[in-house]
Amino acid sequence: MTLALLGGRPVRGSPLRSAGSIGPEEIRAAMRVLESGVLSQFLGEASSDFYGGPEVRGLERDAASMFGVGNAVTTNSGTTALQTALAACGVGPGDEVIVSPFTMSASAATIVLQHAVPVFADIDPRTYCLDPERVAELVTERTRAIVAVDLFGQPAHWDALRRIAAAHRLLIVEDAAQAAYATYRGQWAGTLGDIGMLSLNYHKIIHSGEGGILLMRDARLVERAQLIRNHGEVVVEAFGVSDIRDLVGSNLRLTEIQAAIARVQLRRLPALFDRRRTLAERLTNRLAALPHFWPPEIEVQATSTYYGYPIRLDVDALGVSRATIVAALAAEGLDVNEGYVRPIYLQPMYQRRIAMGRRGCPWDCGHYDGTVNYEPGICPVAERMHERELIVGDFGGPGHAETDIDDVALIFEKVSDALPQLRDWEARER
Ligand SMILES: *Cc1c(COP(=O)(O)O)cnc(C)c1O
Repeated sequence: MTLALLGGRPVRGSPLRSAGSIGPEEIRAAMRVLESGVLSQFLGEASSDFYGGPEVRGLERDAASMFGVGNAVTTNSGTTALQTALAACGVGPGDEVIVSPFTMSASAATIVLQHAVPVFADIDPRTYCLDPERVAELVTERTRAIVAVDLFGQPAHWDALRRIAAAHRLLIVEDAAQAAYATYRGQWAGTLGDIGMLSLNYHKIIHSGEGGILLMRDARLVERAQLIRNHGEVVVEAFGVSDIRDLVGSNLRLTEIQAAIARVQLRRLPALFDRRRTLAERLTNRLAALPHFWPPEIEVQATSTYYGYPIRLDVDALGVSRATIVAALAAEGLDVNEGYVRPIYLQPMYQRRIAMGRRGCPWDCGHYDGTVNYEPGICPVAERMHERELIVGDFGGPGHAETDIDDVALIFEKVSDALPQLRDWEARER
């Protein structure tokens, strides 16, 4: 078959589109709240409304019971959930927090928002999650916590990360924004660290437009998270809270409509997860037969949501660049992302060390007495994935059918079969 890039017929005439997961049940739930007239019941005072209205509290009960932890605290985004988690753990000025550079920017920016210093550890090239050996090398006496991201929906290397955290008395904040309903040794993503977070953003596995859910066992963390979410400084005396450090409150409250929608989505999560997994595994079975394309490897002790389906290219063996592969896929009717994100430390904020104020907080305003390196080259695996080797697709969302996935597999097989022609094309065109 001639590649569409070289004048042949494309496999697909229309792009793969996700239908989204909002349906009649979500609409009814939102209408019920609208008809009640109570769109948020939070009050920033020491009363029962400090904890929000019936839908918010119902969502927190549902999430805590579904994920088998004692407690859930909702927030108005995944990002504010992460920031709340860090603050609840007491991460503040002068502290270092170890995090992956290969993740959504908020995994690290929330550390900066706490006026603490992110320290970037490289990733494992098989799972794209933190490489525990690199994490261990970066622990100092200033390290307070690790933010472990379950990237592309696959839980991080939790056994090893927990050993490091225990040895150095560090807390682990789990960023499970992409991993709702994934598991590690039978435990749910979001419950694998000391405190974990799920995102309810529109682009995630389940959503209510925006929103976040914190999961935790420790009652003290629950109280701190509730205070940070809702103007805590006003009520600390009434609640008898004496350790008030890092407890400045904000308004990070979810609305009743969002909570009502999220409760429906949470009930549908197992089915949405199973469908994603079935379709992703169908694709993996086909791609595994291709010599130079590496589909995601899910470790035996884990399951994945396949939020973003990463495919690593053996670019040296392919003999063509990633850009040429992506162009060939696009011509066949398949859009994938070239790379995922630029390693976070290469963003201007880290390169110029300008975040808060004129003196360059958190790096240079008196609290921090360490040194941290953000030079290009510090995380070579993340840089290589970004620059050369990784492509990321979105396969398995609502509305994707088995036939769509078979098209995707066929497109990769077609491109793989035509590598010699593609090499000639690249030599001519580029
Ligand atoms: C989406 C995402 C977040 C932030 O969640 P929001 O709900 O969009 O604020 C944080 N970390 C990761 C890994 C994400 O994918």
